[in-house]
Amino acid sequence: MNLDELGAVAAAAGLRSFAAKQMAKWLYVKRVTDIMEMTDLPVRARQQLIDEGYTVGRVAPIHEARSTDGTVKYLFPGAPARDVEAVYIPDRDRATLCVSSQAGCKMACRFCMTGQGGWQGNLTAGQIINQVLSIPESDTLTNIVFMGMGEPADNIDAVLRAVDILTAPWGMAWSPRRITVSTIGKQPGLDMLLERTQVHIAVSLHSPFADERADLMPVEKAWPATELLATLRRHDFAHQRRLSIEYTMFDGINSDMRHAHALARLLQGTDARVNLIRFHRTPGFEGRPASQAQMERFRDTLNAAGITATIRASRGEDIMAACGMLAGNKKQTKQSENEQ
Ligand code: SF4
Repeated sequence: MNLDELGAVAAAAGLRSFAAKQMAKWLYVKRVTDIMEMTDLPVRARQQLIDEGYTVGRVAPIHEARSTDGTVKYLFPGAPARDVEAVYIPDRDRATLCVSSQAGCKMACRFCMTGQGGWQGNLTAGQIINQVLSIPESDTLTNIVFMGMGEPADNIDAVLRAVDILTAPWGMAWSPRRITVSTIGKQPGLDMLLERTQVHIAVSLHSPFADERADLMPVEKAWPATELLATLRRHDFAHQRRLSIEYTMFDGINSDMRHAHALARLLQGTDARVNLIRFHRTPGFEGRPASQAQMERFRDTLNAAGITATIRASRGEDIMAACGMLAGNKKQTKQSENEQ
């Protein structure tokens, strides 16, 4: 709940308006798990809230898998037919949590295990925030990325509410510069993210050519990358917020120099930096990973054209936690643990 909603709850329980801020502090700063722990509210009001069915709503992970590289994948209850995963990624002085925004995904990107399993439901803002608050490493987090299961722009109301709770002074008071929302470019949702938040934006492109991108990502047919980039050019990514382009590299599909030159042309004037992502084979997709040499040549070509590009380190592959591998499936998680 945001502050207005907590205010309505406080009023219904006969509490003064400042009780909303007190409740927000208990929920998002002191992180209690039980309404009875909100000790500066009258006992009678706390009991009334419980009697009316209110709960704090915190739910612990139901399963976890630990990678040899320190990455931890947590499974949380999602929709009735599908759980969701959040991935904790420690890296020197950074600790990033990759959160899910949907149970599954409707966007059907061919290379992605989440997409291959279809869509089973949207997460609420509470379910998104719960991933942040309920992992054991919650207090150590420095960054949050919405790059887990689902397309954030397809569940934009809950994502905006979650970003509000994460960044508001009455909430968790995180700087938006520590939050990145990743999207494949579902335009109405992306527009709202650009206008109503200051978080960093990551856009998954994966090909500079419309026909080839549409083959990998059906979203291209409804919201072409050229229109998407025209929108992004109207925003300032040179100062406060950052725009990154996510580009997963498949051998023989999108990783030759023709693609590199076309990508550089497409990104001119956007202030975007490019993250080149190693592809991890997924059972339902025939693509193969590009080689290290191909990735380095691609990176160097982009850099020579004035586009900052880096090869992103791959984390948690052994527990099926790397990009494109989240399935929200306990059996799959356990299986991969057994294979270690
Ligand atoms: S890559 Fe993202 S948008 Fe595409 S199917 Fe997977 S989760 Fe959905």
